[in-house]
Amino acid sequence: MHERVESPKQGLLERLAEGPVVCAEGYLFEFERRGYLQAGAFVPEVVLEHPDLVAGLHREFVHAGSDVVEAFTYYAHREKLRMIDREGDLEAINRAALDIASRVAGETGALVAGNICNTNVFLPTDESRREVRAMFDEQLEWAVDAGVDMVIAETFSYGEEALIALEAIKATGLPSVVTMSIHQDGITQEDWTPEDCCRRLEDAGADVVGLNCGRGPWTMLPLLERIRENVQTHVAALPVPYRTTEAQPTFQSLQDPAWSDFPNGRPFPVALDPFTCSRYEIEEFTRRAHALGVDYLGVCCGAGPHHIRAVAEALGRTPPASRYSADMSKHAFFGTDSRVRPEYQDYAEKL
Ligand SMILES: [Zn+2]
Repeated sequence: MHERVESPKQGLLERLAEGPVVCAEGYLFEFERRGYLQAGAFVPEVVLEHPDLVAGLHREFVHAGSDVVEAFTYYAHREKLRMIDREGDLEAINRAALDIASRVAGETGALVAGNICNTNVFLPTDESRREVRAMFDEQLEWAVDAGVDMVIAETFSYGEEALIALEAIKATGLPSVVTMSIHQDGITQEDWTPEDCCRRLEDAGADVVGLNCGRGPWTMLPLLERIRENVQTHVAALPVPYRTTEAQPTFQSLQDPAWSDFPNGRPFPVALDPFTCSRYEIEEFTRRAHALGVDYLGVCCGAGPHHIRAVAEALGRTPPASRYSADMSKHAFFGTDSRVRPEYQDYAEKL
């Protein structure tokens, strides 16, 4: 193991003590959309095949305002690698992802986060508990070796699996962000309410608790309100940027009124485009969540850099990408600038 290098940059908890922290997620969906990752198994093979592209997306998200570079080890765990017959690449893919993320964090001053997630083999049996703990431990050992600043454990639907992940993170001594994905029925798989689950995580020592993925802004917000009222620690909110509704509260459950011919019977996961939230909706969600007292904010699957910039700007930040935030005063027809020709302004309503 490497010696952890003393860095002058502030850690997660110091930053949270001063104000909100922004974290970009959603790497799987973005690389799927770009044609470098296969939907279905959703394994981040792009880390080994196109490391330059992964570094590039990390940089784009930091440019847009993310304070955290999350190593792309999501679903780079033993069960997933086994599913695509690449179990032999488990260590290589984890170390490569951590190396890429550390490099970009080093260039930008962002925090570098290790990442573990739902194993898809958890069941409430002792044998399963031991198996998932071993899966978390092996990934965390590589994260510790890489000198990460913090660990994100995410998208759990079993509260108990999240607690096991947290216990494994606690053993490393690193700060932890633990977020649950709450599906259509509004509870965890063992029937805990989101607030009860987050309270248990807080009691077990999580630094940040909350929700990510699964739900869009407006079906996540009411759950966040209850969580915020029931825990003392920092609260995280990273919705998917899709227009989920009370009747279809998760992106997996969305049905498209304009199209029904989907090979897998539903828009999820690769035909969600028409439901995408605009940057204004993400900005409004961020403002409302922050007003509730949520202080670790971001966007999950489906996020683009423009969504992350909207999160940052909603918090009063001006990341480098804000230099290019829209200024319609200079538009050829809709503009109000004195250099826009009046004849063109008059024509604007015909566009
Ligand atoms: Zn997600």
